[in-house]
Amino acid sequence: MTADPLNSTGRSAVEVRRSARRRRTVSAYREGDRTIVLIPARMSAEEEARWVRVMLEKLAAQESRRRLGDEDLAERAAQLSEQYLDGHACPASVRWVTNQNTRWGSCTPAEGSIRLSHRLQGMPEYVIDYVLLHELAHLLVPGHGPRFWRLLEAYPRTERARGFLEGVVAAERLPHRSADSGQPED
Ligand SMILES: [Zn+2]
Repeated sequence: MTADPLNSTGRSAVEVRRSARRRRTVSAYREGDRTIVLIPARMSAEEEARWVRVMLEKLAAQESRRRLGDEDLAERAAQLSEQYLDGHACPASVRWVTNQNTRWGSCTPAEGSIRLSHRLQGMPEYVIDYVLLHELAHLLVPGHGPRFWRLLEAYPRTERARGFLEGVVAAERLPHRSADSGQPED
């Protein structure tokens, strides 16, 4: 994906889909970097604008309840290191960054710093944990050789998390789907 300028919600685009089958209800969900808002076909432009605002606020509120802060991340990293790496990985800093769009996580072993892409925010916790553990393991072993993957073996959801992230990347490469592409009402 090329870099779309991000709007204030940190997402790149809102796509409104009108549905003739939809009578009164409005719903919204995230699809990769896009936000899809489903509205009834007969809604006026004014109503549409109002509902898009309402639904964006609602989604953002839901996500912020789930969102971990930098401090939570550091705490989580310490737990994961303890649980899966015998506490050997001790990062000096763990934080979210918004300038990392092609990698989910990165680290600088010399500084002991770990950065996670804000695009992970709102994803399932086991996915965030996986990326965090992956970067923690890189503090101990650079590259992706057998020694590296052995460190991740104990984490039971490595495969599932990698599959989830691959799915996100694949979904972002899909062409826009037309309205009513099988998304159920509500
Ligand atoms: Zn890696």
